[in-house]
Amino acid sequence: MIRTRFAPSPTGHLHIGSARTALFNWLLARKTGGVFILRIEDTDTDRNVPGADRQIIEDLRWLGLNWDEGIEVGGPHGPYYQSQRMDLYNAAIRRLLEAGQAYYAFDTSEELDAMRGEAEARKQAFRYPRPARLPDESDARRARDEGRPVVVRFKMPAEDITVHDEVMGDVTVAATELDDFIIRKADGMPVYHLANVVDDTAMGVNLVMRGQEFLAQTPRHIALQRAFGYPTPRYVHMPLTMDMKGRKLSKRDGAVEVHAFRQAGYLPETLLNFIALLGWSPGGDREKMTVAEMLELFSIERMNRVNSKFDRDKLLAFNTNAVAEASPERLSAGFDDWLAVNPDSPLSRAGLDAATRATLLEVNRGFRTFADIEHKSGFLYVDDEGISYDPAAVKKVLAKNDNAGFHMLAALLPQLEALEPWSTESIEGFIKGVCESQGVGMGNVAQPLRVAVSGTTISPAIYDTLVLLGKPRTLNRIRRALAINQ
Ligand code: GLU
Repeated sequence: MIRTRFAPSPTGHLHIGSARTALFNWLLARKTGGVFILRIEDTDTDRNVPGADRQIIEDLRWLGLNWDEGIEVGGPHGPYYQSQRMDLYNAAIRRLLEAGQAYYAFDTSEELDAMRGEAEARKQAFRYPRPARLPDESDARRARDEGRPVVVRFKMPAEDITVHDEVMGDVTVAATELDDFIIRKADGMPVYHLANVVDDTAMGVNLVMRGQEFLAQTPRHIALQRAFGYPTPRYVHMPLTMDMKGRKLSKRDGAVEVHAFRQAGYLPETLLNFIALLGWSPGGDREKMTVAEMLELFSIERMNRVNSKFDRDKLLAFNTNAVAEASPERLSAGFDDWLAVNPDSPLSRAGLDAATRATLLEVNRGFRTFADIEHKSGFLYVDDEGISYDPAAVKKVLAKNDNAGFHMLAALLPQLEALEPWSTESIEGFIKGVCESQGVGMGNVAQPLRVAVSGTTISPAIYDTLVLLGKPRTLNRIRRALAINQ
């Protein structure tokens, strides 16, 4: 039975690349009737961000990637926070020390820098020089008394190590490139390699699937497994995800965290579909898949070796299609979630009732993400005084042709004041009547009204807009717009 795990370090919300790692491990476990474990790797105290574990949980749950063993749900191999498993790591390190497979070292950072500098001057890669006599416990005690940093280093065997990777093939790292790396830092914490290897075995993980950035470290993990007499799991290193220019994904170009996509109004199933295609494809030119279809089609064999590109336009197109096809119930749940994670949106602050939320979804049909609804309709839920008039819109729609738009508004105002009832039908009838009697196009009437009530040229259909805004606020905003011209 396949036992996979997702082992994030708690440094913030789930990055899109990590979400893909979680998804692929989850797919493989679910597809094969295996187990998916969630473990938090929090031994690097400098990098830990308080609360990040909660954020990761929240992001995984939003994506629907549930785990069988791990934090929150428990399981036979807990605790699942590495910071709570120190006894295990200390015992493992002790075993290596006692077997002569690890040793104490107490170089200061200045001494290490000097050694590195010398290696550089000789144009050689730095490798830690293993002392002829390995320091023992009493040497370590003395060094500690002298105030030196005491670490434990692993005695790397002098042999080339080959990783049998199921995507990349055999990758061999020469013995000369591997040195005696630190397994316990001066603060007493184990390094990632040690804790990771100890836990994978303790938790029965037999397939490790992770990003290719970890591949260079895997020989160290294999060396540790051999020293402990642990089995080596299957390894799958996935290609990296880059931006469209082939660089590391960066916030500079937009969202990189799952939570940011949630706040931007994407559907989780669309995001999953999209990230599944980063480094994997089901074959042919098939792209659109439900989670159930992904489960059916997923396989390690169809994983790519080459890095993938994160195409934001494509993701947006995916989402646009998905919302166009989604059921009203799905959209309603998605919109509610969007409101909940955007508490500062005017739409959230307005505390909209269910009927209004449904109307907003309806009148904004064709939206690409839920954020578009705010973009197109947010002005409905701010104070009239909060509307600022976009100078370009004023110029183009109201001031052009000798203030034609302003004149139109002035003419419409008393008639709208008299209009009863204030409904889609009556407003539609009224505006069409104005167009006919004045012999003008719809745009000449609707656009000035749109700018007057929204400050911009963007809003849902004008009849819907005016009904949602209500009569008093519509009239008030028209008066405010007319005041710009005085
Ligand atoms: N804690 C590592 C990370 O932050 C996990 C690497 C692995 O999967 O082995 O991604």
